[in-house]
Amino acid sequence: MSHVEPRPAEPAGTTPRLHGREIEVLSAREVPLGGPRAMTVRRTLPQRARTLIGAWCFADHYGPDDVTVTGGMRVAPHPHTGLQTVSWLFSGEIEHRDSIGNHAFVRPGELNLMTGGFGISHSEVSTGRTTLLHGLQLWVALPEAHRHTARNFQHHVPGTVPLEGGEARVFLGSLAGDTSPVPTFTPLLGAELSIEPDATLWLAVDEVFEHGVIVDSGAVHMNGTPLRPAELGCAAPGLTSLTLTNASSRPARVVLLGGPPFQEEIVMWWNFIGRTHDDIVRARDAWEYGSDRFGQVEEYDGNRLPAPALPHATIAPRRNPVPGSRT
Ligand code: MN
Repeated sequence: MSHVEPRPAEPAGTTPRLHGREIEVLSAREVPLGGPRAMTVRRTLPQRARTLIGAWCFADHYGPDDVTVTGGMRVAPHPHTGLQTVSWLFSGEIEHRDSIGNHAFVRPGELNLMTGGFGISHSEVSTGRTTLLHGLQLWVALPEAHRHTARNFQHHVPGTVPLEGGEARVFLGSLAGDTSPVPTFTPLLGAELSIEPDATLWLAVDEVFEHGVIVDSGAVHMNGTPLRPAELGCAAPGLTSLTLTNASSRPARVVLLGGPPFQEEIVMWWNFIGRTHDDIVRARDAWEYGSDRFGQVEEYDGNRLPAPALPHATIAPRRNPVPGSRT
């Protein structure tokens, strides 16, 4: 876990300094999740320009979707290894079942952190109570020392932290004097931030972290750089504060991610993270042959997801740009 930095003096009355090149802006690509009516998500991580922010290695943003139009979410039992998943909702409800035997409901403002470790499987289905489905699916890469840890599932409801100009819900790590009690395997930050109309949030941040801001709504400027909804603004390590301005007359909402640059090269394929192509082949074989590595999801009405075919080429590790190299 990261320590809480003492909050420096508030720069009251000053406008944010504009560092036009301080923030890298990445756009999302639309990815169909599959299924008969194909719910679509906006994926900002990973992409060619960036694999990770800290250990955050996957970010899908979806909705608000009318589930009578999209069919909602129905993801049959599937495996994970080498990573954790975070489901973070703004609206709607998802029923989670996993191979530990957990049957949980993912609800807005509640952290559901699933640790795949060596292997887990789960299903995710939006419930009949859901009319609008809206939220994020995030993954965290596990470091080498812990990537084979035991499967686990944790639930935590963060409080709402009032801020000048908005509020925060800190689901992992520390921000604005609040610290999530949920332990992480590398220092991480994850928080939902609401910004009032025409207001600016000023946040002290850990300068060894890189940070990403995913905009859900609003006309948000991250340290002076405008971001559109669904875009990801990235800041290299070295910043001690972030300013988030909502230049619209309606409330804005963003999710802030952070962590020190993840130093290991990872191989990502389907729902697996390893270090080598052979790690991926072993995980895929274990799933396809029904080994107990991933366990069983009980009481899911339907078949589990088959793994896709492996590519013919060796799956190459993903590299991240050296932090700060773009300045
Ligand atoms: Mn999953």
